[in-house]
Amino acid sequence: MNRMISMTVDTNCARPTASPALRGGCVKRLSVLGATGSIGTSTLDLIGRDPDAFEVVALTAARSAAKLAELAIRHRARFAAVCDEAAFPELSERLAGTGIRAGAGPAAMIEAASLPADCVVAAIVGAAGLAPTFAAARQGCRVALANKECLVSAGSVFLAEIARCGSELVPVDSEHSAAFQVLAGADAGSIEKITLTASGGPFRTWSPARIAAATAEQALCHPNWSMGAKITIDSATLMNKGLELIEAYHLFPVEARQLDAVVHPQSIIHCLVQYKDGSLLAQLAAPDMRTPIAVALAWPARMEAPVERLDLAKVGTLTFEPPDEARFPCLTLAKGALQRGGSAPAVLNAANEVAVAAFLAGRIPFGGIANLVEKTLAAAEPRELFLTPVSLDDVLSVDREARRLAERLLQA
Ligand code: NAD
Ligand code: MG
Repeated sequence: MNRMISMTVDTNCARPTASPALRGGCVKRLSVLGATGSIGTSTLDLIGRDPDAFEVVALTAARSAAKLAELAIRHRARFAAVCDEAAFPELSERLAGTGIRAGAGPAAMIEAASLPADCVVAAIVGAAGLAPTFAAARQGCRVALANKECLVSAGSVFLAEIARCGSELVPVDSEHSAAFQVLAGADAGSIEKITLTASGGPFRTWSPARIAAATAEQALCHPNWSMGAKITIDSATLMNKGLELIEAYHLFPVEARQLDAVVHPQSIIHCLVQYKDGSLLAQLAAPDMRTPIAVALAWPARMEAPVERLDLAKVGTLTFEPPDEARFPCLTLAKGALQRGGSAPAVLNAANEVAVAAFLAGRIPFGGIANLVEKTLAAAEPRELFLTPVSLDDVLSVDREARRLAERLLQA
């Protein structure tokens, strides 16, 4: 089984010797892909509090040149790159005279991910993060992975690349960071079950009719977490928890049947691990992504994070309930894709990205997200889109085809 978080060294890769990160302790040279987003800015907030401890190598964004330039200047980055070439003139102008090199386009995303660093924080949203995250994996460094879509779409291919290149994968997603901490040093045979918690999202107590007609404004209003738009919608549909079950399947040495989710509206416990001796271990923290980011940067050491400390007496009550898959069918669809295997999770992810974008653009109702994903999955199997991918190119080709299919179904 190739799903343990592991580290091997392969001399075919760009940097065969272990970086300081791989020797344990806090990373020093850091790049952030998706620096202007929610995870990106939380990461920079954290390291900005101890600027002498870190060197920022590269920062990237989709197109917000002004914000990227400001972050690059503030954190004294060496390279800043936007994916959208139309944003390059503004970025170059803003960085003129600073000594920070500017770049643009998909090749610049790869370059930013490949510049030697101890750790690359992979925080681009969606399958757009696949190629840059693979490039980070190829440099033999620590990959602090927020981009869950990478593991969902490319799971085994991505892990093979991590292992081949002697990189080290540390999850940033809060539930997986929790499991990573709780599982540290555990023997695979001792684990009975891993339970991811879910807040339940803004529609946890809503009726099916109200959920089906929910507006973007309502769906973007997450009760506990402040995040980018796409993951916030995924949290409202519970697709996020489905994607996270797939992510956990790849990260940890368990079978799909040993994974489940429980709704925990307070978002204090992030994951529970049931051991075969009856012990149930959990990680607790205030819902603030700076804690899992700090874990990913410092592991196995710990670094200071300016997050609220839990006062359990003040919290008072922690509650739990089973997720209602009848009202949140995206969770069932994701579990089905995990069971089906091959490229089914990549199709699920691509269809979901199209559906979420369509919902946010007012093209479909909230209830249409699950419908479109379901229809795309049903149409993909007979077109042989579920074959097991063996390379990044295979994954990207399935992703493209599934998006085309979803777009066609959207227009039908
Ligand atoms: P966000 O939308 O706030 O930020 C996304 C970043 O990616 C931005 O910097 C944006 O400029 C960049 N980007 C977007 N499209 C791009 C493209 N086509 N090419 C290059 N760059 C592009 O998203 P986020 O909430 O920070 O989430 C980032 C990733 O982390 C997602 O995969 C999400 O699922 C995961 N994650 C986020 C949180 C959270 O609390 N925000 C928690 C767990 C996991
Ligand atoms: Mg999460």
